[in-house]
Amino acid sequence: MKVFKFGGASVKSAEGVINLSKIISDKLEKGDIVVVSAMGKTTAGLEEMAFKVLAGNNQYVADFESIRIYHQEIVESLFGQQPEHVAVAGQIDELFDKLSFTLRAERTAGDRAFLDLVLSYGEILSTSIVAVYLQHQQMAVQWKDIRKYIRTDGQYGAARVDWVPTINGIQTGLASEDKIVVTQGYIASTSAGETTTLGKEGSDFTAAIIARACGAEGVTFWKDVPGVYNADPKSQPDATPYQMLSYRQVVEMTYYGAKVIHPKTMRPLAESGIPLHVRSFLEPELPGTMITGEAEEDDSSQMIFKHNQVLVSFKIINLEFISEHNIGLIFYTFDRLGIQTNIIQSSATSCTFAFDFDEDRLEKLLEALADKFSMYFNKGLTLATFGNVADEVIETYLAGTEVYLRQASRTKVRVLYKALQ
Ligand code: ADP
Ligand code: MG
Repeated sequence: MKVFKFGGASVKSAEGVINLSKIISDKLEKGDIVVVSAMGKTTAGLEEMAFKVLAGNNQYVADFESIRIYHQEIVESLFGQQPEHVAVAGQIDELFDKLSFTLRAERTAGDRAFLDLVLSYGEILSTSIVAVYLQHQQMAVQWKDIRKYIRTDGQYGAARVDWVPTINGIQTGLASEDKIVVTQGYIASTSAGETTTLGKEGSDFTAAIIARACGAEGVTFWKDVPGVYNADPKSQPDATPYQMLSYRQVVEMTYYGAKVIHPKTMRPLAESGIPLHVRSFLEPELPGTMITGEAEEDDSSQMIFKHNQVLVSFKIINLEFISEHNIGLIFYTFDRLGIQTNIIQSSATSCTFAFDFDEDRLEKLLEALADKFSMYFNKGLTLATFGNVADEVIETYLAGTEVYLRQASRTKVRVLYKALQ
């Protein structure tokens, strides 16, 4: 069986849903599973609304209305003239009534469980609309709530999968022998039945979890780009797509900051050798990129930019050398605060690290290590990773920037810089 995953951009409009239905009717059969994200920018909208609710800001009502109207309009264009329209519109209204009730219920400030529950509505709404539309197109389709099958711990916002019950649950409950299953990405639940989410962009990961549990023959991600490129094609127009990549190459690219596939996706696929195909829902006739265990090593050029970095330098206060003990202390603190370093450099009496800027974490870091180190930081930096790119070309990218740090290996040059206005 196969697993297809459609991201938010693919279902941002009624035309998107119609296009998805054509792809599915051409390529899937009973027993296959389709994972669908929230429509368009719904997750961001729900998040903004939930923050207003938590801050006691009544403006959230306007956000709620705009999310509701957005979905109603898609339902209207899909079913407006059809006899099913009343039933589908009623089903969507019911979901919005439930959401409205959730928003008005009692809760404590900073309630992460509340946030995840609100966010889950994006996927529930989108899959409900898509499933009914496919049924309406005479396809044998079954809607399923993935929260019954993917079990996680209670780390809301970035819950960790509990693999044994998850694999069991998917094998016994999710797969269907006589229908195509449509289900949600990104969301899951604890053993107590509380809704959790798998981290931003987590739908890619959901598709990999399902594929792994079912021993799928392959997974296809349908995106708004025709594959994985050697640079983000939206900001680098001359970027070119890869035909083949290995799991490891993709893991490296995501580490350097390529935002095309969720980093957690590759491990479950690699563990069971399931190929991942990345294709364009806009140009489904194009071949896309195949990701497997055995793509040959590649020496073509590659460019990845990771923005919004902060560089923190630690200088030992009492003129000791930087020792394993000191570095250990810094790493221990990073781990405790959930900071992931993107580049590291050390010298005799100092060491520097760059990571994704997060005000709260940075403050806690400075506080935790103040008695041992004097620390300096610089915000608003970009970390560029150039693979097999000629020095002259790198220099053109760095013209008019201030370089803070530069590292070179045999094939890669990594530069942390600030763009000057
Ligand atoms: P989805 O809708 O499936 O979640 P994403 O928006 O997460 O899709 O991923 C697709 C986007 O990733 C593209 O629109 C593209 O701008 C961006 N992107 C960043 N780096 C790359 C790359 N190296 N190759 C292809 N796309 C990339
Ligand atoms: Mg994504």
